[in-house]
Amino acid sequence: MVERPKGTNDYIHPESSLRKIIVEKISNFFEILGYKPIETPIFESVDLFKRSAGVVSDIVSKEMYEFQDKKGRHLALRPEITAPVVRAIIQNNLLQQQIIKLYYVGSIFRYEKPQKDRYRQATQFGVEYLGIENYIADFELIFSIYKLYQSFNLDVEIHVNSIGCKDCRPQYRQKLYEYFSKHKENLCNDCQRRLEENPLRILDCKNPNCKLISKEAPKSIEYLCQNCDKHHKELTNILKFYNVPLIENHYLVRGLDYYNRTVFEVKFEGVDLAGGGRYDYLVNQISEGKYDMPAIGFAGGLERLTNILKEKQNINKFLGENIKINLVSLTNEADKIITGIYTRIINKIAGKKNSIEVNLMKFEKLSKALKIADKMKANYTLFMGEEEIKEDEITIKNMETGKQEKIKVENFMIKFFEEIINIE
Ligand SMILES: [Zn+2]
Ligand SMILES: [Zn+2]
Repeated sequence: MVERPKGTNDYIHPESSLRKIIVEKISNFFEILGYKPIETPIFESVDLFKRSAGVVSDIVSKEMYEFQDKKGRHLALRPEITAPVVRAIIQNNLLQQQIIKLYYVGSIFRYEKPQKDRYRQATQFGVEYLGIENYIADFELIFSIYKLYQSFNLDVEIHVNSIGCKDCRPQYRQKLYEYFSKHKENLCNDCQRRLEENPLRILDCKNPNCKLISKEAPKSIEYLCQNCDKHHKELTNILKFYNVPLIENHYLVRGLDYYNRTVFEVKFEGVDLAGGGRYDYLVNQISEGKYDMPAIGFAGGLERLTNILKEKQNINKFLGENIKINLVSLTNEADKIITGIYTRIINKIAGKKNSIEVNLMKFEKLSKALKIADKMKANYTLFMGEEEIKEDEITIKNMETGKQEKIKVENFMIKFFEEIINIE
């Protein structure tokens, strides 16, 4: 049998239902805060990611699914969604708006070693907030993410740092270069390359030696210019004022090159749930110098959030319970009445958010219908056979209590909606 590719996943009920509910919750949450949905293609020109995330980043240099189409265009499955959204903003002339607030939910693709909660095709949700350079936008975004996870009953911590701007970062970069150069022979091969290309990357390395050396490295916070320092202090002060659990981590740099000033990660019991930061130069980079707009954003993983909710909480609380009803015709004569009842029920409930599930079925034997209803964990089996046809009745069997009663077809709809599924 052909199996699914390594690092991918099938989502089946109840997990698929849980994912759907989480996505709905996230979408509603951000729409209330003024964010509008955006969708972009799952593949883009390779250049978009090289130009934005940085050629040195692992995501672009090692993990990207690249391919050529039949005309030789060099494309990549998107490894992240911020650069595509910024590309779409520019291409669709959204920059004319002063403020742009967008959210997305979509697949990303990274060729990395599959591990728990890390898949080669993963689902990310996130927001991009463009137009405001002031720390108040950072506050709005970080505070809302904190509240989002709280709405799932997860008390997360926010790890935060500032990596400076184009004025002050070169000096910090130079200090890092000098520091890591002294330890060059103990760095891993990747980091020896990073040293020349972007020494900030080394702070992100998972290699134990590199981690040890990084512990003594200069901190970005010590090299911030006046404006960056003010921005960072104002942000951390106001977050603390509103009791957001903040951890200042001065080695936090994030895995993508386009960030500046504020970078942050959201952690729950040590596990990364989301991350993001400011990217004031990305619009300029992607538009090749044509436009400028300050921005901040974040992205979170759907798989991790789903798994934590499954581990920590009663997922039935999220899923809710459906009333499951099987509507069964047992003879050809009953078909017309049963389908008539079925269409009337559907006419009444279609498109409404009712927690009811109706299955139309036909069996020759009642025993078979009841056996299937048991397997499906149906709450009721409603059936009509030869006996019922004669009396113009339908039998309602409560599958939990085993009790059954016959009622006249003409009285059925009222009884069904008022007593069984209890909706008007
Ligand atoms: Zn600065
Ligand atoms: Zn390393």
